[in-house]
Amino acid sequence: MTQRESSPLREPYGLVGGGAEREASNEETTEVHDPATGDVLTTVPAGTRADLDRAVESATEGFDRWRRLEPKERGRLLRRVADRILDEEERLATIETLENGRPLEDARGQVRRCARHFEYYAGIADKVQGEQIPLGDGYVDYTIREPLGVTGHIVPWNVPIYLFGRSVAPALAAGNSAVVKPANLTPVGGLEVGRLANEVLPEGVLNVVSGAGSVVGDELSAHDDVEHIVFTGSGETGVHVGRNAADAISDVVLELGGKSPLVVYPDADVDDAVTETVRGIFTGAGQICSASSRAIVHEDVHDEYVDELVDRVESFDIGPGLENPDMGPLVSKSHLEDVLRYVELGRTEVGDPVVGGKRIDRPGYFLEPTVFDDVPNDARIAQEEIFGPVLTVTTFSDEAEAVKLANDVEYGLVAGVMTNDVERAHRFARDVDAGQIYVNEWFAGGNETPFGGFKKSGVGRDNGVQAIHNFTQIKNVCLKIE
Ligand code: NAD
Repeated sequence: MTQRESSPLREPYGLVGGGAEREASNEETTEVHDPATGDVLTTVPAGTRADLDRAVESATEGFDRWRRLEPKERGRLLRRVADRILDEEERLATIETLENGRPLEDARGQVRRCARHFEYYAGIADKVQGEQIPLGDGYVDYTIREPLGVTGHIVPWNVPIYLFGRSVAPALAAGNSAVVKPANLTPVGGLEVGRLANEVLPEGVLNVVSGAGSVVGDELSAHDDVEHIVFTGSGETGVHVGRNAADAISDVVLELGGKSPLVVYPDADVDDAVTETVRGIFTGAGQICSASSRAIVHEDVHDEYVDELVDRVESFDIGPGLENPDMGPLVSKSHLEDVLRYVELGRTEVGDPVVGGKRIDRPGYFLEPTVFDDVPNDARIAQEEIFGPVLTVTTFSDEAEAVKLANDVEYGLVAGVMTNDVERAHRFARDVDAGQIYVNEWFAGGNETPFGGFKKSGVGRDNGVQAIHNFTQIKNVCLKIE
């Protein structure tokens, strides 16, 4: 294994399993590209079904070792995983920027969030408790929360290191072992975090297999020896994974897409509303499941809001993530083309955008941040997840209309409101169907707060104590006593 001079990437990569880096079963590899240039960064193994089976075997053996460790010891080891990730923050962040394109400062934050997951769940490892159930004098009844066994984690390309931590850390804290399949476009972060964690964890507890979704992801979600799947990705693949999990009778959490509304009331500070909108939709070049992709703005402040938004967006600094711009490239050529098709659709549905709309003439996959104004809520650009830096603005005149517009979409991942009226904020939280409600700050909350979707945005919740419950099964013990 060689480390290229001045590059954080290694060449070639192996799979991670059995406590070490391991060779794939064949020599086929997948190229990983830099979206800021289109250049090849490195190659990773194109894992096969045989590689995945071997990883599940390794995880089955790892589970036996891991579940027998004292919970407080599991917690200590997870804490050390967090520390190893933080030790390597700069290198991991650079890798995330290189393979995903996000600005370096944002990538540093994602690495810290990944470490924070291991830290948070390290503290819960020895608090996974059952309860005592009163059945009267003739019985003693109690429940035990037991781990499930081997858990599978299918991760998308948009925030690969953070989502690795979000998915895996609670599974391990609850005493399960894990097999992770990172996304084909951004597999390096997962392989690197997996390798670091394997410096600390017992053999077989954490395994990472890169490879095609239709091969490795399919096998993982259909595997009879995998007891739980966390899938984070698109609805279409989520349905396939859910069917596989049903056939294998495995638990499943599906973290899917969103088309999330940000409602701006006239009592809010317009400047703040624009700041939150810009952060919500242009962070990660809009390639975030919880992006604020639909602004729903009161007619009294609409003009001021749009003028300010256009001003801010026009001064955006766009460039390679390593230069730490306001916004980096989209992840791949084909994703850029998909997003550009939506921009063209927007032109036919509502006319030219008020700002942006063009590919930037430079190497790599850069698109101007784009805003469409006066968008009817039934336009496809207001209904479908574009997963790029494209915002729609729709106006409303009263609260009932705002809530109706916010809910009138098939997704329900998150929803935000900008208002200084506390009752209105609570009514919004009560009436809008979404897994997370943000009041006066987009992306509010953290890894402590449950995250997941209503409606077509998914099934189940990640984060917080809730995620530990996903990864345990309850055993009831009932004793008859004299
Ligand atoms: P995707 O569905 O194409 O891929 C997700 C993962 O599934 C990848 O690892 C992929 O290789 C794998 N996969 C592909 N085909 C598979 C198959 N047949 N069987 C099993 N696995 C397979 O999604 P994407 O384009 O990588 O990610 C973008 C989507 O993810 C967006 O819709 C976004 O909203 C969603 N997302 C949701 C959340 C959330 O927390 N709700 C977070 C991030 C991203």
